[in-house]
Amino acid sequence: MEYAKLETAALAHVDDSYFYGAYCRKCKHSCRLSLEKLRKHLGDDFPLRMVKDRLRCERCGSRQIVITFLAPNQKTGNVAHLFQEAPRR
Ligand SMILES: [Zn+2]
Repeated sequence: MEYAKLETAALAHVDDSYFYGAYCRKCKHSCRLSLEKLRKHLGDDFPLRMVKDRLRCERCGSRQIVITFLAPNQKTGNVAHLFQEAPRR
């Protein structure tokens, strides 16, 4: 099975079985974002790699966001806990 890649996928290719996390470099706030909600908001064809440009830290408003994108097959070992977090927004 082929999994969507951050560089090439559009929002139509991913759902919340993927992990998409944002981390603010400025205030170190982090949260998991819902790819399904992003898709509803931005549309099916919106490129995954461009979602980052739309993000601002909800706490301090900074745009210095670092993304963590993981496919369902990476849901193992020391990243497994990331998938247990409930997606927000
Ligand atoms: Zn921040």
